[in-house]
Amino acid sequence: MEHQADIVIVGSGIGGSSLAYSLAETGRRIVILERGEHLKDTPEARDDVAIFQKGFYKSGEEWAGTDGETFLPGNYYFVGGNSKFFGAVLYRYRQEDFTPRDHMGGRSPGWPIAYAELEPWYERAETIFRVRGDAGQDPTEPPHTRPYGFPPVPDEPSVAALRKRLRKAGIHPSSLPLAVDIEQWLRRAQTGWDAFPNTGAGKIDAEVGPLAHALAHPNVTLITGANVQRLETDESGRKVTAAFFIKDGVEHNIRADIFAVAAGAVQSAALLLRSSNASHPNGLANSSDQLGRNFMNHNTTAMLAIDPFRANTAVYQKTLGFNDFYNRDPQGSFPLGNVQLLGHITGNILKANAPMLPRLLAGLIARNCYGWFLTSEDLPNPESRVTVRDGRIVMNWVRSNMQAHETLILRTRAVMRKAGFPVVLSRTFGRKTTSHQCGTARLGNDPKTSVVSPICRSHDVANLYVTDASVLPTSAAVNPALTVAALALKAGAAIGTL
Ligand SMILES: Cc1cc2nc3c(=O)[nH]c(=O)nc-3n(C[C@H](O)[C@H](O)[C@H](O)COP(=O)(O)OP(=O)(O)OC[C@H]3O[C@@H](n4cnc5c(N)ncnc54)[C@H](O)[C@@H]3O)c2cc1C
Repeated sequence: MEHQADIVIVGSGIGGSSLAYSLAETGRRIVILERGEHLKDTPEARDDVAIFQKGFYKSGEEWAGTDGETFLPGNYYFVGGNSKFFGAVLYRYRQEDFTPRDHMGGRSPGWPIAYAELEPWYERAETIFRVRGDAGQDPTEPPHTRPYGFPPVPDEPSVAALRKRLRKAGIHPSSLPLAVDIEQWLRRAQTGWDAFPNTGAGKIDAEVGPLAHALAHPNVTLITGANVQRLETDESGRKVTAAFFIKDGVEHNIRADIFAVAAGAVQSAALLLRSSNASHPNGLANSSDQLGRNFMNHNTTAMLAIDPFRANTAVYQKTLGFNDFYNRDPQGSFPLGNVQLLGHITGNILKANAPMLPRLLAGLIARNCYGWFLTSEDLPNPESRVTVRDGRIVMNWVRSNMQAHETLILRTRAVMRKAGFPVVLSRTFGRKTTSHQCGTARLGNDPKTSVVSPICRSHDVANLYVTDASVLPTSAAVNPALTVAALALKAGAAIGTL
């Protein structure tokens, strides 16, 4: 079947939906092709056994490592993409993340644009995602032209007590910037939201925020269950002419003037690699040979700080973080990373990660612990890459900067002990946790070393854009979604003038 549009966007995640938002008012016919369907509101949506132990929402698509082993990644395919499950922490990259800087594990190259250039787009994105926060609390917060539009999501009493304990231990805790409407979220069920699917409007994810706004325009259409297989170019190779997708077992193609790929960092790279042709033998828009390379995923660890004498009564918990070690290790000089609360850990969540643990013990630990999420920068490396072999995605993630991450774990453990938590356990996440994937189509000014320009346009193919986490040239050490949205909005403004 054949279709026609002015602009085709592949993927309805943060990047694709933010782009659709910014283009909706141009009046052009925009078609969003989304592989997944709308998430349904079933009992599993708030069932920690279904989500964490049974993997109810995971797709059956396996990826391979270079060791040949296959695994089920934590990558989700629904309208709204991975943001349906996100922790909704919408940090801006710190100003220092845009300039080159030395890390324990090497040099982070910085960005081809300065923070000031992205600032208006961050502000726009915060408005769209209705971010709650207080820019005055965190000493590492970059300049904001305007304060957040809503006050922070309130700390629960247990978290307010934790904030005091951390302050006493010499730390500067700050409220997390959150895209969460807490009343709405809790109305559905008394659970945390981190890694829980959003089937209502409690989280302002890609679907609830920018996509809903875009689809209110008659010129914007969403086709679900549309799995894009490849893009085709004209003979010159300078122009994409059509996207081919499978829906309900039938092949369709859609022609348009402009194509934007926003299928997520791994899937966008795979789609462009699969779209190789005579003009683009190594993958579409890959004259630099950087497509699929520089794959980054953050070094992340879950840490449990246990106080055997005091229960944590929090329901959602995830309102606090600290960046005391973000720019500099106080006992050294290198940046270490961000520390933020996880959603409230239940016995079932704990058991999903430690199946050997007796259920009773898991419940006891969960009752008396605070779960933390530690993030350190993963540096771009051309050998860390995504490829496609016999139709299967192969992810060769070469971790970097682990020494910094291990130091962050040490420093955070010391903080927790000082704050009165005698038992501190930690576990570093591996390759199955692909939540913060980025970097496979990095943006830059030089067509020899980057895939897209700073407005996310392919250096090689004039009407092709990539507007998702693929384009991030560095991973920094904060959650990526707001930066993905800001870049997509910036790209949309440029496309809108064409
Ligand atoms: C559990 C979890 C917690 C997270 N917490 C946070 C957080 O607190 N803060 C934060 O900033 N980030 C968080 N993230 C990361 C954040 O969700 C991602 O950075 C962000 O969603 C990336 O957006 P994207 O547009 O690049 O890709 P995606 O969200 O992956 O969207 C891509 C879309 O494209 C679709 N698609 C894929 N392939 C095809 C194809 N071939 N054809 C058609 N459609 C296709 C997918 O179904 C998907 O809808 C979290 C992620 C997870 C999984």
